[in-house]
Amino acid sequence: MPAIENLGATTRTSPLWSPDKVTVIFVLGGPGAGKGTQCSKLVSDYGFKHLSAGDLLREEQDRPGSEFGEMIKTYIKEGTIVPMEVTIQLLENAMKKAMEEEKKSTFLIDGFPRKLDQAHAFERSVVPSKFTLFFDAPEDVMLERLLDRGKTSGRADDNIESIKKRFRTFVETSMPVVDEFESQKRVIKVNATQTPDEVYRDVQARLKEWGIEPITLKFVQTDA
Ligand code: UDP
Ligand code: MG
Repeated sequence: MPAIENLGATTRTSPLWSPDKVTVIFVLGGPGAGKGTQCSKLVSDYGFKHLSAGDLLREEQDRPGSEFGEMIKTYIKEGTIVPMEVTIQLLENAMKKAMEEEKKSTFLIDGFPRKLDQAHAFERSVVPSKFTLFFDAPEDVMLERLLDRGKTSGRADDNIESIKKRFRTFVETSMPVVDEFESQKRVIKVNATQTPDEVYRDVQARLKEWGIEPITLKFVQTDA
């Protein structure tokens, strides 16, 4: 089955899901801020479903017969934002699948929304988000991490030219999304310059403030 059958998601005028049933946490931060690393820690402790918009786009790009493959490739290499209809449809399809097949209802949506129109369209037509986890790090820290990752990631955009363009897109296009959510008091901002474990400790403390706790498996002793 193709990853995208139609691009109808963004034409809806009301959300597909209610935030009472489906919880979305957006995960934002500059390229190399550590979104993916932190998301994988959260998945194992909290049981969230992690969906990386970038990974979904790369998957669609590589899917044989995709009519969007070439377009996606160009945008990613240039560090610009793929038209939202494609990204939102990919996210919606992946959410639907995780709900049906894994019975998931809480999602970490990583690397999205990167542009205000995406944020508005997603919240209008898919589901309003609960809050945004924002990983804050200066460019010199992120650059070092990305160049290091570039040695093994095989990603077409982990090179200095693409990285510079991604930084620019982040500041000019993506930060306004964080600012808007911040003005709505819907941002958890974490200092992402420390080690992954230190950052994670902060994340956990902040999630607790929002009433979000790790999954604890309780074994009740039943002595016969
Ligand atoms: N991208 C996009 N829309 C999105 C998410 C990603 O167009 O909502 C594209 C964009 O070109 C971006 C690239 O995918 O530079 C890589 O995104 P990813 O999140 O994988 O990069 P990261 O932030 O993890 O370095
Ligand atoms: Mg990532």
